[in-house]
Amino acid sequence: MEKMINVEQTEKIEQNSKSGKLVIISGPAGSGKGTVLKELFNLSKDNEYKYSVSATTRSLREGEVEGVNYYFLSREDFFKKIANGDMLEYVEYSGNYYGTPREPVEKMLRFGYNVILEIEVVGAINIKEKFPQAVMIFLTPPTYAELEKRLRTRGTEAEEVIQKRLAISKKEVNCIDKYDYLVINDTDLQKETAFTVNCLVEADLKTTEEHKINTQKAVNFLKSYFNN
Ligand code: 5GP
Repeated sequence: MEKMINVEQTEKIEQNSKSGKLVIISGPAGSGKGTVLKELFNLSKDNEYKYSVSATTRSLREGEVEGVNYYFLSREDFFKKIANGDMLEYVEYSGNYYGTPREPVEKMLRFGYNVILEIEVVGAINIKEKFPQAVMIFLTPPTYAELEKRLRTRGTEAEEVIQKRLAISKKEVNCIDKYDYLVINDTDLQKETAFTVNCLVEADLKTTEEHKINTQKAVNFLKSYFNN
């Protein structure tokens, strides 16, 4: 009991309890993650969400912007960052490397933002090990046939790449049991999907934070418990 009201410790925990939620969104290429996230940012009036910009060694696609979609790095620079401990996680995916820069994520969490990591399953599982409180959401089209249709109609990739992505998607969908939530992103219902994602994050924040006990909460509760 003595230890519980140690001021230094109380302040530290108080600060931690204000930090934001790490939100992992995974799903096969073509699941509509990008559109759903745009809708999610539109929904969040208080700007409580921040997007973690990943680093990658793949080349820039048409319409993508350096520092907005990704930090496009050479392999050499990418591996330098890993060696310096600057990546929270990284993975090789479809012949390229992708990784989550550590510092911005930790900073945004400290400032109380919910930080979105749009990452594939291996990275997601690694992050969850480091941040057990992270909420993991898997986004998928209703069927494999629909995924295939979406990949072909978006026409940004060569057939060989589409085949590679479809093969990867089969492996990815088999990992859904590692996730906290599965959200089906129906065609033309991206707004509704974003709303669902927002509800899940809010619910997760409430269930994990509201009822969780820490030193400050214990002190506050015991004060009011014995004084009323
Ligand atoms: P794309 O090349 O289509 O932008 O991304 C390919 C895959 O890499 C997607 O599943 C995307 O979510 C994932 N990805 C993007 N950034 C990261 C990252 O920082 N870490 C991991 N593990 N996966 C990432």
